[in-house]
Amino acid sequence: MHEPDCKALLDRCNELELYLDETRREIQYYKNIASVAGHKRLKEVEELSNLIFLRKQAEKALEKARDELEDKVKERTRELVSINNQLRKEIEERKKVEKEIRYLAFYDSLTGLANRRLFMDRLSEAIKRAVRKRNRLALLFLDLDHFKRVNDTLGHQTGDLLLQGVAENIRRFVRKSDSVTWLTPLKKKELLVARFGGDEFSILISDIREPDDAARVARRLLNNIPATYQLDSHEVSVTTSIGISVFPEDGHTAEDLLKHADMAMYHAKTSGRNTYQFFTETMNQIVLERFLIERDLKKALENGEFILYYQPKLRLSDKKITSAEALIRWNHPRQGMVPPGKFIPVAEDSKIIIDINRWVFKEACRQVKQWKTPGRDDLSVSVNLSGYKLNSQNIVNYLEATLISVGVDSKNIEIEITENILLKGSKETISTFNAIKSLGFKLAMDDFGTGYSSLSYLTSFPVDTLKIDRSFVMNAMSEQNNQVIIKAIIAMGHSLGKKIVAEGIETEDQYHFLKECGCDEGQGFFFHHPVPADEFEKLLTRDSL
Ligand code: C2E
Ligand code: MG
Ligand code: MG
Repeated sequence: MHEPDCKALLDRCNELELYLDETRREIQYYKNIASVAGHKRLKEVEELSNLIFLRKQAEKALEKARDELEDKVKERTRELVSINNQLRKEIEERKKVEKEIRYLAFYDSLTGLANRRLFMDRLSEAIKRAVRKRNRLALLFLDLDHFKRVNDTLGHQTGDLLLQGVAENIRRFVRKSDSVTWLTPLKKKELLVARFGGDEFSILISDIREPDDAARVARRLLNNIPATYQLDSHEVSVTTSIGISVFPEDGHTAEDLLKHADMAMYHAKTSGRNTYQFFTETMNQIVLERFLIERDLKKALENGEFILYYQPKLRLSDKKITSAEALIRWNHPRQGMVPPGKFIPVAEDSKIIIDINRWVFKEACRQVKQWKTPGRDDLSVSVNLSGYKLNSQNIVNYLEATLISVGVDSKNIEIEITENILLKGSKETISTFNAIKSLGFKLAMDDFGTGYSSLSYLTSFPVDTLKIDRSFVMNAMSEQNNQVIIKAIIAMGHSLGKKIVAEGIETEDQYHFLKECGCDEGQGFFFHHPVPADEFEKLLTRDSL
């Protein structure tokens, strides 16, 4: 019988037709196709059917496994695609960041100009090229004049805008100069501009034939850069000072050329700003000396290396000492006694002058208190105060607090300031001196006649004393003009109610001349050199000098 569930198989070897029940895994029945075989055969057939069944099963399992595997592969492929996309995105971002980092490493983020690092690299390469080709190159170092004032008064944001404006101006100038026909033709010149931070810019001019090429660029820059910049609501005008160093004359390495261009720039500043200067070897020495002074000055106060000397001032009519001028001396550990002319100007260029002013004032107060014994009630000591913007040194508060802490009367102290302070100063400076005056100090205008200050200062500035500068006294006997000036100062001073003191009296002739002109007091080597406090005290015991 033939059941529907059964599958018929032919076993030709044994001449059998087998009927297999797949679900029950057994042969249901069989038919002998030819002749009926023996029972033994049947057993073999059963085994065979079993094998076939197992194989089928295995095939099914394999199929299932393959399907599952395929699914997994698909899923994994999907995952891989998404990871791949993510990776690609990350790589792109990384490249962008790397580009930004590279930009920041070589360019100035405020102005977009090259930065110091890139500039120095290019300079080193340019030097190597110049050595090979036996050419010159020049480095221009620019510094804006009085940029700090812009920053201080209008704020850093405006300062930044100004720097961007100047950078754009220089960039435009350089672009215009790309075909530099006005430079000595050699071949196309490379002008690389960089900002070194702050208000410092530098320009590399490769392949110049003569130093004057660099000077020509500098001159043109000086004509191009000064401009009035409209920054927010402010109009700001700037000029610039330029230092130039030339390879191979001024140095063989990028560092040396830069150092020397910087020194030359500094020199340009001191010679009036808005100008350019070439580096010279003497300048190197001056700047080096100045650098060493500045470095050592910072430690001098802490180490107690300053002392005050006192030079007597005398009434010319009877040569009696009326007061002393306190003059600072620096007992340098290696250089010995350094005169103030060498270090005060350096201190004035930095904040060190503030501490020096304070130290001198306090020390002078202490000293005058010690000398002020009965009978010497009117003795006074003059103190020189200097430095740019005395008003921003918070000096008035300091003077008042020191008077109280030392316990001295302001009428025994005179403050000497130079005309230059007034020249550089403003209305604020005058109000500072009014405040000093209202504390009871006397005020003297030092080195009078040298500062070219307007005579109108004499009426707006509350000065008690004019000190005629040494330079007029020095040549008074040989130069008629000086005598005229001295007489004029005395007459004018007196008519304004000021006391007149002559500085630098070195000879008897000078003394007599000044006395006859009606000068009130005098000071100079003719009477006495400045001396330490204990020696000055001995002078005080004399009736006259
Ligand atoms: P100054 O205030 O005009 O001081 C007078 C200078 O002339 C002193 O020089 C003094 O030694 C010098 N002198 C006096 N009599 C004669 C003379 O007959 N002939 C000559 N050739 N010179 C004479 P010193 O002490 O070298 O001071 C130089 C300048 O340094 C001072 O000029 C003053 O501007 C500044 N200075 C001195 N001490 C101080 C200080 O404590 N603080 C500040 N800020 N500046 C000071
Ligand atoms: Mg003085
Ligand atoms: Mg003087």
